[in-house]
Formats: sequence, structure tokens, C-alpha cells
Amino acid sequence: MSRPVLATLDLSALRQNLLTARRAAPDARVWSVVKANAYGHGLDRIWSALAGTDGFALLNLEEAILLRERGWKGPILMLEGFFHADELELFDKYRLTTSVHSNWQVKAIQNARLHAPLDIYLKVNSGMNRLGFMPDRVHTVWQQLRRLHNVSGMTLMAHFADAEKPDGITHAMQRIEQAAEGLDAPRSLANSAATLWHPQAHFDWVRPGIVLYGASPSGRWQDIADSGLKPVMTLSSEIIGVQNLKAGDTVGYGSRYRAGGEQRIGIVACGYADGYPRHAPDGTPVLVDGVRTRLIGTVSMDMLTVDLTPCPQAGIGTSVELWGQEIKIDDVAHAAGTVGYELMCALAARVPVVTV
Ligand SMILES: *Cc1c(COP(=O)(O)O)cnc(C)c1O
Repeated sequence: MSRPVLATLDLSALRQNLLTARRAAPDARVWSVVKANAYGHGLDRIWSALAGTDGFALLNLEEAILLRERGWKGPILMLEGFFHADELELFDKYRLTTSVHSNWQVKAIQNARLHAPLDIYLKVNSGMNRLGFMPDRVHTVWQQLRRLHNVSGMTLMAHFADAEKPDGITHAMQRIEQAAEGLDAPRSLANSAATLWHPQAHFDWVRPGIVLYGASPSGRWQDIADSGLKPVMTLSSEIIGVQNLKAGDTVGYGSRYRAGGEQRIGIVACGYADGYPRHAPDGTPVLVDGVRTRLIGTVSMDMLTVDLTPCPQAGIGTSVELWGQEIKIDDVAHAAGTVGYELMCALAARVPVVTV
């Protein structure tokens, strides 16, 4: 391997995080959410570590077909359903459970020629106003679907906008109750945050995503620090250059960082073209040779710079953790004004990945 940047995926952490999610919702079955190429981890690399799940949830047909081709025989939930009516042929062939969030999808299911009926997830708009039927429409649509030969199992599904907040699901739960009134319907409501923090939303199937990968649904690592969840992805590299600054010397594009006195800095082979956030400010935590230090200067496409003051032993070839077990992806994301979800999904294709 030439350039030293590397993503290492800890599959035992993934397995353990699935068990942690199960323990949080012991009476529910689990859809492991693996959309967006398993949150940037690579679906093909990691799905078998999650094979103890009850089902996989995602939204890209190619990814669903990949799971079938690799031998997954259990349920697959397509979170956004089909995007065009002609995809129903593949939903039929690969036995995919589809979400139904719009009237045109009801008609498309009615008119489809299937070999066997499909399971459907009827989506309620919980107030987030993304996908789903308004609560007062749900009864009618449920009855329409119930009558169709092409429909077998039916579940009510909704998604929460604010489940990381202590009172965050109250309003949404009222709307879901209104929608479900008089229907004897299994329910799937809970994302990671509700799986961890709102047991009253567990019902029949939970849908954890981010916690499987060992980051916090709230964006704050402290909120899951005691949960037993473990980061799956480590992004690491090495120092490939060292500079000795004098007072007033600047670092990188825009000369954003200016040394206050003599200072040794390390140049790390990792930049925004690897997926490290360009908006990370001076002070963003970085681990060098096992010692916590800080980013200084603007992140470049292929490099970033770190303060070597706390680790004078470090030099060319010293190992650097950008995020992983010690430097939490949540903390890097927070510093850069985003969430761990985005950083994981943005891991660049040029970064080599190994699983352990
Ligand atoms: C992404 C997604 C999830 C998982 O969300 P996390 O916050 O990662 O747990 C669950 N349900 C739906 C509909 C989603 O789109």
C-alpha cells in the first residue's frame, strides 16, 4: 500500500452493536438499516456481520438485489418504496417489502402483475412532512390496500423528526395513534434514537441505523458513551512531513492558522478528498501516536496539519487516528458543524478499506 490513509472496519463491533440495539428493544424485531451503502461502510463488506438481524432496510434496488445475490433470504424493507411502477417486477422477483407513501403507489400495486402478493409498509406522515399519508387519510388507504390481491402482510410505519429529544416524539405519537385508530396493525416506528430512548415507540419492528455503526443519533458521543456501543470505522493515516514554525508563521490555505511561538507541526496524509470534513476548525481533535492533539490550519484536498506540541516523539511515519475508538466521529463531526452520519457516508472511494 502506498499512501497511508486507511479505513478499518471492526466487524465484531458491528455484531455487538446489533446485540445492543436488540437489548434496548427486547420485544421488537430489528430492521438493520443499511441504506447509503451501509452508511458508507460498504454493504457487501459488512452485511454478513449483521446476518443475525431480522431484516435489512435500505432504499436502493441495486443494494437489495446484492443482498439477495449474496444469499440473504430474510426480509428486505425498501424504505422509500418503488420510485416507478415498473420496478414492481423486481420487487416481486426479489421478494422485497415496500413502503407505500403515495396514492400513485397504491394504484401501481393494484395494477401490477405479480407472482405472489407483497408485504407492504403503509407510511404515516408523523408531522415531519417528508413522506407519508396524513393521519386522517390512513384508514381509507389501509382499507384500499387490504382489498388488493397483490398485498399480503401490512404494517404501519412512521419516522420521527425529533426522537433524540426527551419529549421529541409526543406529538408524532399522537398523530400515529390517530392514524392507527381502529386498525389492528403491526407498527414500525423507531429509528436509533427511539430504539435507545423511547421504549413506548418500540412496537413490532425497530429500525436502528446509526447505532449499528457506533455513533450517536443525537450527534453527541456522551449520549451513548455508557450504552456499550462501539465505533465500527477507524479512519487512520500517518505523518508524512514535519515543519518547525516560528512565531508569526502561518499554515495552509488562507493562512488560517498563525503560530504564536515556536511550534512543531505534522503533515498528515488525509484530506477532504478522503472524506475528512474541510470545515473542521483549528482545535478539532486528532490522535497522534496515541496522544490527543488538535488540527491546525485549513484542511486541504489530500493533507491536513496537526500540532505536535503534546507529542514531541512523533515524526514521519507516526500513526494518526482521524476518528475511531479514541477520537469519536461524533466529536469530529460536531467540531465541523455536522453529524457522524454525514462523515461516514462521505468516506471517499479512494480510501482503502480493511475489515478486522
Ligand atoms: C435512515 C432511516 C432510519 C434509521 O435512522 P437512524 O437515525 O440512523 O437510526 C430508520 N427509518 C427510516 C425511514 C430511515 O430513513
